[in-house]
Amino acid sequence: MPTLEDYRHLSTGKVRDLYEVDDELLLMVASDRISAYDYVLPTPIPDKGRVLTAMSVFWFELLGDVVPNHVVSYDDPRIPDEVRGRALLVRKLQMLPVECVARGYLTGSGLTDYQRTGEVCGIALPPGLTEASMLPEPIFTPASKAEQGEHDENVSFDEVARTIGAPLAEKLRELSITLYERAAAHALTRSMLVADTKLEFGLLGDTIVLGDELVTPDSSRFWPSFGYRVGQVQPSFDKQYVRDWLTSPESGWDRHSGEQPPPLPDNVVGATRSRYIEAYQLISGRPFSSWIH
Ligand code: ATP
Ligand code: MG
Repeated sequence: MPTLEDYRHLSTGKVRDLYEVDDELLLMVASDRISAYDYVLPTPIPDKGRVLTAMSVFWFELLGDVVPNHVVSYDDPRIPDEVRGRALLVRKLQMLPVECVARGYLTGSGLTDYQRTGEVCGIALPPGLTEASMLPEPIFTPASKAEQGEHDENVSFDEVARTIGAPLAEKLRELSITLYERAAAHALTRSMLVADTKLEFGLLGDTIVLGDELVTPDSSRFWPSFGYRVGQVQPSFDKQYVRDWLTSPESGWDRHSGEQPPPLPDNVVGATRSRYIEAYQLISGRPFSSWIH
């Protein structure tokens, strides 16, 4: 049986680590780390890595007819026991340098850009939209992939076309919107709105392949459809307890102080863990207890 030490460590992101298995395969390991307000918090959320891996696998299976994806296996013997359930064996791709964001609702950086210019990533939107407005149709709002610690920056479609060529850019736009629409339609049957999602694609030879994670709370905004109210910031399905506590006097932390956030209390960790599990079970219709551990 292999251990993690048998594989060359390639990189550590905010949440995931990449290892090289051989010339064609990578091991993508999701940790239990959680970030909020642009900080990785000092307290992990037990099982978060497994939940996000299970959720990605659910979507990769559901949307596998739209575009090929990088998943080779989640239970292959080459996956070390220590990371089983939160690691995927994936095809090594030549990642395309664009964060492919599709949005069905206006919030976050999309709303900020719209309020300043009436556009998002060069797409003109009708007047009168506000926080959490549903868009007339889903839009493709790509972002440049920032260096570690930097913010991704929204870019126009034309800029993406200049970087990777118009035919490839058009294909990414089409795939992103289709994947978003399909995921959002499924989520809606489970009383969840997917406000937006970030996808990453890569190339395997000339073939476009969907990589990274897929429609997880880390890459997407999930809103419970019953509580949805246009004109107000929707509570974050997964990080609500974390954000509420961090911004409460109890935490003693000022998010604008530049200081690292404090450790989370056990009740916040427990409630957040339950939220992740609930999201997975709701969306997949599968019990988390049957996911591999
Ligand atoms: P963050 O998500 O914290 O902003 P990040 O995206 O760089 O930063 P992670 O998501 O933690 O970091 O790590 C995943 C990394 O693996 C990303 O850089 C992503 O582009 C890359 N990646 C995902 N799938 C593949 C693949 N099949 N082949 C090669 N690289 C991949
Ligand atoms: Mg990432």
